[in-house]
Amino acid sequence: MSKDNNKPKKVIQHAAMDQFSVLNGEICIANKTISEISLIAGQTPFYVYAKSVIADNLKRLRRHFPKISLHYAIKANPMPQLVSFVAPQVDGLDVASGKELKVALAADMPPENISFAGPGKSINELSMAIASGITINIESLTELERIKTITDSLNKAANVAIRINPDFELKSSGMKMGGGSQQFGIDVEQLDPIFELLKAPNLVLKGLHIFTGSQNLNSESIIAAHDNIFALVERLQTQYQFTLEHLNIGGGLGIPYFPGDTPLSLEPISKNLNSLLEQYSKLAESCEIILELGRYIVGNAGLYVCEVTDKKVSRGKTYLITNGGLHHQLAASGNFGQIIRKNYPLAIANKMDSSDQETVQLVGPLCTPLDILGSKVILPNANIGDLVAVYQSGAYGYTASPRDFLSHPEPIELLL
Ligand SMILES: *Cc1c(COP(=O)(O)O)cnc(C)c1O
Repeated sequence: MSKDNNKPKKVIQHAAMDQFSVLNGEICIANKTISEISLIAGQTPFYVYAKSVIADNLKRLRRHFPKISLHYAIKANPMPQLVSFVAPQVDGLDVASGKELKVALAADMPPENISFAGPGKSINELSMAIASGITINIESLTELERIKTITDSLNKAANVAIRINPDFELKSSGMKMGGGSQQFGIDVEQLDPIFELLKAPNLVLKGLHIFTGSQNLNSESIIAAHDNIFALVERLQTQYQFTLEHLNIGGGLGIPYFPGDTPLSLEPISKNLNSLLEQYSKLAESCEIILELGRYIVGNAGLYVCEVTDKKVSRGKTYLITNGGLHHQLAASGNFGQIIRKNYPLAIANKMDSSDQETVQLVGPLCTPLDILGSKVILPNANIGDLVAVYQSGAYGYTASPRDFLSHPEPIELLL
C-alpha cells in the first residue's frame, strides 16, 4: 500500500450556487419559497427564471464592459416574457430563426439592433429579415446571392454582416464554433467573391461577425481570441477597403456547471478589450463593438424543478425517481454535447438546511438509462413529494430538450 492512500481524498466540489436566497430551508425567488412557486406553477416540473439574477448579470457586464455594446442571443432562452424583460437592458438581440426574429420584434427591439445568424436560412426567413430591416449575418455566398435576388424583387436594400470563419480557434471552448472547417460563417480565405457581390447597390455591409465558441471559462483563451479578431479585421480592412458600423466579437462567456469549474473572471477580459480599443483606435472610434451573449446573461438565473415520485434501493444503490428528466433538461442529463457525463449542481430545494445526507442516483421517468439528473450525488435525505432543483438551467434548457420523447407532460416556465 502506498502512503498516498492515507491522505484524505480530495473532493472536487461544485462552485457555490449562491444566486438565490434561502428562507425557512427553501430556495426563494422574488420572496417566494420554492413550495409557493410550485403552487403558482400549478404543477411540477417547471422552470423558474429570476429577473433579479438576470439584472445582476447585466449590471456586472455593464460595469466591466462600459464601452462595448451588449446583445442577447435569444436561442439561449427564447421565452417571450424573458426576452421582453432583457430587451430594454441590452443594446440588441441576436436571433437564429424566423420565429426568434418575431419574438425579438415583439420585444420592441428596433430592427437596426437585431441581427440574424445561422446557416441555411430559408428564403422566407431571409425575406422576413429584409422586410423588417434587421441585419443578416451571412453564412455563405449562396446566401448572399439569395439575399440579392430578394432585394431586387422587393426593391429594398438589405443590411448584411459577414460572419467570418477565422483562421484561428478558440481554445478551451465547450463548443467550438469557429476555426478549422465549419458549417458556420465564411472561411476567411473565401471572401473575394463576397466583397465582389457586395458592390451591388441594394446590399449594405454593416458589420463583421466572428463567433468562435460557446461555454468558455478560460479568460486567457477568450483574450487570445479577441486579440486575433482585431488583428484579423485590420488585415481584412487593408485587403478589401471597407468601413464597418459594427464588429460583433461573439459571446461564449461561460458559467460554472461542473465540479471544479470556477466562475469566469471578467476583469482581465475587460482590461484586454480596453487596450484593444486603444490599439485599434481608428476602428474603435467609428465602429460599435458588440459582445453577443446568451448563457452568461440567463444561465444561472434559471432552476429546473421536479418532484420526487418514488424512492427505492437496488442492490445497494438508492434511487430517487422524479417526474422530470432528460426530456425537459437534456443538458443536465449529460446528453447535450458533453463528452463525459458530470452532474449539474443539484439541491433538494425544500430541504436546504437539512444536515442528514445520502448518496443517490437521481433519475427521471423515461424508459432509458440515459435519463439521469444526478449520479452518485450527495443530497439531503429526500422523500416522495420533495422538490429537486437543477441549478444553471436558465440557458439551453427548456427549448434545447426533446420534450416529446416518451410523451410525458411538458414543464411550464415562470419568470419571477
Ligand atoms: C449561440 C450563439 C451565441 C450565444 O452563445 P453563448 O455561449 O450562449 O453566449 C452567440 N452568437 C451566436 C452566433 C450563437 O450562435
